[in-house]
Amino acid sequence: MGAGPAALCIVAELVEHGLKVTALASHTPDKPWPNTYGIWAEELESLGMASLLGHRWSNTVSYFGNGIEEEGNKPISHDFDYGLFDQDALQKSLLDRCRGIDWRVETASEIRVLGAETEVFCSSGNSYRARVVIDASGHRSQFIKRPDHGPVAEQAAYGVVGRFSSPPVDAGQFVLMDFRPNHLTEFERCQPPTFLYAMDFGEGIFFVEETSLACSPPFPSSKLRERLQSRLAARGVEIREIIHEEHCLFPMNLPLPDRSQPLLAFGGAASMVHPASGYMVGALLRRAPTLAKRLAAAMKQKPVLDSAALSRTGWDVLWSSELVQRHRLYQFGLRRLMSFDEERLRSFFETFFHLPRKDWSGFLANTLPLPKLLIVMLKLFWISPWDVRVGMIFGINSL
Ligand SMILES: Cc1cc2nc3c(=O)[nH]c(=O)nc-3n(C[C@H](O)[C@H](O)[C@H](O)COP(=O)(O)OP(=O)(O)OC[C@H]3O[C@@H](n4cnc5c(N)ncnc54)[C@H](O)[C@@H]3O)c2cc1C
Repeated sequence: MGAGPAALCIVAELVEHGLKVTALASHTPDKPWPNTYGIWAEELESLGMASLLGHRWSNTVSYFGNGIEEEGNKPISHDFDYGLFDQDALQKSLLDRCRGIDWRVETASEIRVLGAETEVFCSSGNSYRARVVIDASGHRSQFIKRPDHGPVAEQAAYGVVGRFSSPPVDAGQFVLMDFRPNHLTEFERCQPPTFLYAMDFGEGIFFVEETSLACSPPFPSSKLRERLQSRLAARGVEIREIIHEEHCLFPMNLPLPDRSQPLLAFGGAASMVHPASGYMVGALLRRAPTLAKRLAAAMKQKPVLDSAALSRTGWDVLWSSELVQRHRLYQFGLRRLMSFDEERLRSFFETFFHLPRKDWSGFLANTLPLPKLLIVMLKLFWISPWDVRVGMIFGINSL
């Protein structure tokens, strides 16, 4: 169910294993995706897919200073290529691999597990049966059960692709996080911190996006827009032409799904967003092949497995105990970061990006094995200034 990046990634792999797939989505699978997806280039290189990048930057920086004196305006160079997917190329390359499958434009409204099969009822009145159903309908799936751990923190952003009175970032530059707060009032500095994510697309076009990493309730879009404007205004930059506006809102720390449920999920519906960064597309591309392989093997098993057993096989792959432990660590980290004021948050990120590159990039991609992840987190604690260490242990709100 679905036709976003998660659905296409998993369907492409299932087809490769010779499984018969019917896909239901509320729109045709070639409808352009509304979001722009970014990724560190190395993640795609390791999958042999770097040609899917539409833009690639080597000049990648962040700002964690106070933005006042010269020292506070110095960027940290990441020395690591970042890219944006060519949306059409990514979608087309996945769809090409989904050849021969039955695509139906349908909106699922109810799912009943019958035993050997599961039936999906659609708002059109049609229904479909399958041995196993994979819900890839996104973060707000109504079908996947997960525990209620209280309010969920959401990443929110307001961005503009456009032309500006003067360049908002240096020529050829990608800015992962610009946390400089010097345009904020005293009152705003006491509110949740936000940062600028920005890049030069060439030919006088730039993308600038004010982002709240994670906040509950979510940071309002109207306030993000105001903050973006005041940040640009403080640098003497005006928006001259808006080519495209992006409104971003998705959950960062959705609880993990109940892994005993007889319905499987993939992507946002399976809580696969990285809770510390908000990225997911790299994980979809990396994790779909193993899930498809294990499902294909389970489908052939005798005696025949029912829907619940097939789903359990899938959940065990998607959320192995190693991945669950890592997820808990990331969620713990995010909760701590959400309690930091803007000064401590800047100090934290400045330290984080002083870790060896293999450590911070592995942390952000979720590719470090659990023992290594623990070592990196301890190393981060060790090299952090005292106020950040205290915040990591207790959280600021509890001090
Ligand atoms: C604005 C924005 C920017 C993001 N940027 C990045 C980024 O740069 N890098 C990154 O890695 N991640 C990014 N993310 C996070 C994440 O990768 C995306 O949210 C991603 O789109 C989630 O993929 P998905 O396929 O799980 O869900 P979606 O992309 O939301 O797709 C869900 C699909 O299910 C269909 N559907 C929904 N309900 C039903 C139903 N009942 N029946 C049938 N079909 C249904 C929808 O029509 C859609 O096709 C971003 C998210 C947002 C919102």
